Amino acid sequence: MGKPTGFLEIIRQTGRRIAVIGSGPAGLAAAQQLARKGHDVIVLEKDDRIGGMLRYGIPDYKLEKWVFDRRLEQLQAEGVVFETSVNVGIDISGKYLSRTFDAVIICIGAQVPRDLEIPGRELKGVNFAIPFLVQQYRRNAGDVIPEDEAITANGKHVVVIGGGDTGSDCIGTSIRQGAASVTHIYYQDVPPKERPLCNPWPERPKIFKTSSSQEEGCKRIWKYQTKEFVGEGDWLTGLKVVELVWTRPSDGSRGTFTEKPNSEKIIRADLVFLSIGFQHCEHGPLLADLKLEYNKRGNIKIDENMMTRFSGIFAAGDAEVGATLVVDAIFRGRQVAEKVDQYLISEKTLGGKYSIFKPKRVC
Ligand SMILES: Cc1cc2nc3c(=O)[nH]c(=O)nc-3n(C[C@H](O)[C@H](O)[C@H](O)COP(=O)(O)OP(=O)(O)OC[C@H]3O[C@@H](n4cnc5c(N)ncnc54)[C@H](O)[C@@H]3O)c2cc1C
Repeated sequence: MGKPTGFLEIIRQTGRRIAVIGSGPAGLAAAQQLARKGHDVIVLEKDDRIGGMLRYGIPDYKLEKWVFDRRLEQLQAEGVVFETSVNVGIDISGKYLSRTFDAVIICIGAQVPRDLEIPGRELKGVNFAIPFLVQQYRRNAGDVIPEDEAITANGKHVVVIGGGDTGSDCIGTSIRQGAASVTHIYYQDVPPKERPLCNPWPERPKIFKTSSSQEEGCKRIWKYQTKEFVGEGDWLTGLKVVELVWTRPSDGSRGTFTEKPNSEKIIRADLVFLSIGFQHCEHGPLLADLKLEYNKRGNIKIDENMMTRFSGIFAAGDAEVGATLVVDAIFRGRQVAEKVDQYLISEKTLGGKYSIFKPKRVC
């Protein structure tokens, strides 16, 4: 027999309050699990919309946002509260949150991009990947991008520097915007078709792959390093590149390279996207205010309980592991939820009392 509607179910409501900072997949996964454990959860997001890189990084043609919005509705129905346009560290202090909430989880991602500091970097037309992708999402969502800020590929010769999902997303988006040509340039050697000895399972296979965006039509150039961005006036017109000669050890490991003499050439480009990875999380006012420690890669240092050096302040996702994948961020979000729940029910925080039962109407 099905459950009658309007059924009054006793759900354990603990009365414990948790603030999650950042609404990417790590923050959302943590929030959902903790709400299901009966805690009161609020997610604070600095952007105007919830979702982190799921919303503003991964393009709509790869992740249709209605799928994601459906999941958000589920979280809200389960009691998670969302506040957007709250930049924690600026609009509200991290210290205040740590005083007023029983636990704080920092899930701010690792969004500081790697730069290519070579001559001509200041030319108009040389951009990081993310602002371009964010603008396209905003257009799709009906936002108006001011003309003087718009980055568009229509009719332009586009060069994407660096591989990975972000590079592929710039390619697919440029093609959809009507780019005259798209070239993807890598300084690495062409990866092998099969796993080399130095890359055994369960490591991610470092083999030759073609993304769906690359299949849509881009030229791929391997073993070229960009030495300089060249331009006319303020504007980019091309890239000065040099061919590299790679020497790869017999076990297939990465090897070393030298520049091939007299191999410099210019590749035409009106628009360049730098997609050479992310350095670490933002070392902004939030982390400075909380005086958190960083790990060797510049992300938030946590212990085996996913707690920072301060009791009750946790971190999860790209902010502590560095830029990875959605699935990893969700996994870390779920892990931190377990750790936070254990922390909240521990003798230390609740004196062993964890029995504030409140009836809650669930349907
Ligand atoms: C362009 C691009 C494409 C990608 N494509 C794929 C893909 O196809 N498949 C895949 O598996 N992975 C992909 N990834 C990686 C994946 O998106 C990330 O690993 C994942 O989103 C990390 O999740 P997170 O929750 O840790 O951080 P994020 O998703 O980065 O979310 C962090 C959130 O914290 C917010 N925030 C930061 N500081 C503050 C503050 N002070 N106050 C309040 N809020 C704050 C940010 O605004 C952001 O919303 C892609 C990444 C990028 C950039």
